[in-house]
Amino acid sequence: MTIKNNSIKEKIDFDKVRADFPLLNKEMNGKPIVFLDSGASSQKPQYVIDAMNDYYANQHANVHRGVYQLSQEATDAFEKSRRLMKEFINAPSDKEVIFVRGTTEGINLVASSYCRKFLKEGDEVLISAMEHHSNIVPWQMACELAGAHLKVIPFNDAGELIMEEFDKLLNKKTKIVAVNHVSNALGTINPIEEIIEKAHAIGVPVLVDGAQSIPHMKVDVQALDADFYTFSGHKMFGPTGVGILYGKEKWLNAMPPYHGGGEMIETVTFEKTTYNELPHKFEAGTPDIAGVIGLGAAVEYMQSIGHEAIGQHEDDLLEYATSELKKIDGIRIVGTAKNKASVISFLLDGTHPYDVGTILDKLGIAVRTGHHCTQPLMNCFKIPGTVRASFAFYNNRADIDRLVEGVKRAKRMLL
Ligand code: PMP
Repeated sequence: MTIKNNSIKEKIDFDKVRADFPLLNKEMNGKPIVFLDSGASSQKPQYVIDAMNDYYANQHANVHRGVYQLSQEATDAFEKSRRLMKEFINAPSDKEVIFVRGTTEGINLVASSYCRKFLKEGDEVLISAMEHHSNIVPWQMACELAGAHLKVIPFNDAGELIMEEFDKLLNKKTKIVAVNHVSNALGTINPIEEIIEKAHAIGVPVLVDGAQSIPHMKVDVQALDADFYTFSGHKMFGPTGVGILYGKEKWLNAMPPYHGGGEMIETVTFEKTTYNELPHKFEAGTPDIAGVIGLGAAVEYMQSIGHEAIGQHEDDLLEYATSELKKIDGIRIVGTAKNKASVISFLLDGTHPYDVGTILDKLGIAVRTGHHCTQPLMNCFKIPGTVRASFAFYNNRADIDRLVEGVKRAKRMLL
């Protein structure tokens, strides 16, 4: 399959795009699958699958180590992916693009390494009340170690951050702010430009959890001026087990390594080890080479569609799904922010999300039910969880019609 970058913004035929994803032709419980759980993990186009298979069949050798041709070819393919990632997020340098296992590891790396150097007793870390557990627990662990305090920006009934509270919480004791760009449970797009600008005004760096933004919108880390931006490959049509941590060189240079081992060193003696330069200082051990190559292919694939076309298609799906679901009596949409990505969390009065999800499953419709790894957020809303439908550009209005019919059916069965 050959693809080209859609930089001239041709009209995209999304039916053809859908056909690139083999899993979407499968059945679930005897029905053609309607996959509405891309927020948890997206499906993969054949282009990505082929790139990974080709690496294992024709190119496999360890990277950065061998003088022989095969190892050099594998290294070239690996480093080509780094350059693709750099361009994808407009990082100034590929030294600032670190391969990690995913968003969770990206956040843990910063929480562990940055905090070891910069977080002291009595300091504060500022996060929001709508974070994924991955952007809560690592900071709690770092605060516990340093004797620092975790502070939390609240949100309103619509699921929007209360910026006046952010202004009050940000102060000289704050050592880092960590917020998601898009909430996985609510779909809210957070005002991270404003958060970064205000934090920088008093010299505080910001980590952005981009797990849910990167599949949907153009991210430019220089325009945002983010200090750290991290995301997972598997939510952006790439493989599991690989992701990116972008960090400004000045921070990454100042931070101690996270993992020790091969590749991250310059010299080792029993008395003292010196560390490799960026990005290798943070990439100990043999990386997920096939994963990195697959992630590069995912970037090429997304660029062949273009962010503008992706955004327009998903906005249409979000609007259509919201208006169709709202027509069902007893539906409560949780998360009604003005600025949303294509995620809809909802409850059906008098039913448990798990029961609705189970009926949808029998109808071939894959949604996520539960707390979506955001227990504190669910506690704020005083609910146990929601049913969540999350869309990608390979979904269409027919998928939403099936979802709406399924919810009506669940209502008839459960009430
Ligand atoms: N943050 C957010 C907002 C997420 O949605 C997720 C995944 N659901 C994560 C972090 C963690 O990502 P991963 O499990 O790929 O590390």
